[in-house]
Amino acid sequence: MIEETSILIIYTGGTIGMIADKDTGALVPFNFDNINKHIPELARFNFTLDFHCFEPIMDSSNMNLDVWIELGQIIKKHYEDYDGFVVLHGSDTMAYSASALSFILENLNKPVIFTGSQLPLGVLRTDGRENLITSIEIAAAKEDDTPIVPEVCVYFENKLMRGNRTSKYNAENFNAFVSGNLPLLADIGIYIKYNRNIILKPKFKKLKAHKNLDSGVAVLKLFPGINKEFMKSFLSIKGLKGVVMESFGSGNAPSEKWFIDIIREAISSGLIILNVTQCMSGAVEHGKYETSVLLEKSGVIGGGDITTEAALTKLMYLFGEGHDNETIIRLMKISLRGEMTVG
Ligand code: ASP
Repeated sequence: MIEETSILIIYTGGTIGMIADKDTGALVPFNFDNINKHIPELARFNFTLDFHCFEPIMDSSNMNLDVWIELGQIIKKHYEDYDGFVVLHGSDTMAYSASALSFILENLNKPVIFTGSQLPLGVLRTDGRENLITSIEIAAAKEDDTPIVPEVCVYFENKLMRGNRTSKYNAENFNAFVSGNLPLLADIGIYIKYNRNIILKPKFKKLKAHKNLDSGVAVLKLFPGINKEFMKSFLSIKGLKGVVMESFGSGNAPSEKWFIDIIREAISSGLIILNVTQCMSGAVEHGKYETSVLLEKSGVIGGGDITTEAALTKLMYLFGEGHDNETIIRLMKISLRGEMTVG
């Protein structure tokens, strides 16, 4: 039974929790027990803030499937004890992690807000302070005793985005993330303006935190000049079950016979190939150009406006659940957690 608002802040690693070492000047993680020293403003929240620190904390470039599963289990274990969750995470792979967690956590009814920063909290001009404080506020926000944003989100630089719609697109700007195919869930200025008709509705079912993800999936980015040997060896990697193929524009790929033959052969030997666009915004539309008609005929699935990050983690999740190819193909065409626009 929750008596007062309480938020669990889970620190996985990343720039946000760093401070310059007094002697060397290099960025090193600081002890989160001292968080109030770095952000004294936290004491002004009149509710409980608890911390869970990963051991060891990591640069998000080392993120992996086991950590995603562990994150899901931590949230499940503490689900009834907190009103919302804030996950502090390196920005580099945050879009993948937020996408993965959106699939791992089924029937989510509470906010899970991923945030981080481009400059460490220990640096005067840090963007981490505002990102953390606003994320906590969003994780705690309720209306009629119901969380306003019962979703896995990314909050960064005044933008609240559905996690599985984001990509990191800027390595330097505070404004580092884009949600190319879905408007913001909230715009943050003086007020936090929630975009209520887009935010997913609460589910009145028990939370499930799935424990199996399958690593037999990969991303294939097409490029002009891609050759037969590369395509052949990529698609015949041992253990490969699913491929997210990043194609050009609205889903176009070379129409040369050798290319289509290799794709067709791979699919007939059981591989699932999902076509997504390399663009930051817009969708794959099979049939718009002749160059995508051939893909469709070969059995490639059109991924619509799903991001690469969401497509990859959705395949990991669906293969992890042990579904057969027919079921996976059907589920890749529909939205499970608001990850794609359908219809
Ligand atoms: N390399 C860092 C990470 O992703 C960058 C960041 O935290 O933004 O862990």
